[in-house]
Amino acid sequence: MYYPEPISKLIDSFSKLPGIGPKTAARLAFFVLEMEEDDVLDFAKALVNAKRELTHCTVCGHITDQDPCSICQDDARDGTIICVVQDPKDVIAMEKMKDYSGKYHVLHGAISPMDGIGPEDINIQTLINRLKDEGVEELIIATNPNIEGEATAMYISRLVKPAGIRTTRIAHGLPVGGDLEYADEVTLSKALEGRREL
Ligand SMILES: [Zn+2]
Repeated sequence: MYYPEPISKLIDSFSKLPGIGPKTAARLAFFVLEMEEDDVLDFAKALVNAKRELTHCTVCGHITDQDPCSICQDDARDGTIICVVQDPKDVIAMEKMKDYSGKYHVLHGAISPMDGIGPEDINIQTLINRLKDEGVEELIIATNPNIEGEATAMYISRLVKPAGIRTTRIAHGLPVGGDLEYADEVTLSKALEGRREL
């Protein structure tokens, strides 16, 4: 099928987004052509700014526009508890729930020998450093309920137990194989409350 170059480029860009097939990409691209120029500029700026202005917090690994992030800087939060998650989106899910007032650590992945991802490939070393520096008493491990998430939970638990740090795993009210970010707030709140010792 023939499209003029600028629109085929736009279709290509939309196609790179998750869940967008070629048909939807074409529909979105043609929609953009019909938009007001100001709206298109705002849209383009929002994309570029989100990418440019956000960085990873050097303490916890969450996405932020200030370093350390607002959660790490918040003294009202309980620094003795750290909830360990795989992805920044999991932090957002936990925050929406509003039942958790500890801090976070974002791993940016999970251990997966099948995919060649080892402990050194995810954000674990900074977590270990935090344990010494911040007087942490409990790690709530909220990695996803699948093989990689469980392997990561076990690895971290074995690593920190000798230091006398309590490690707990959030309960599996969460659907097996379902990512934390998709859990609704009530399910997530129950999963947190029902956490068990590792
Ligand atoms: Zn942070």
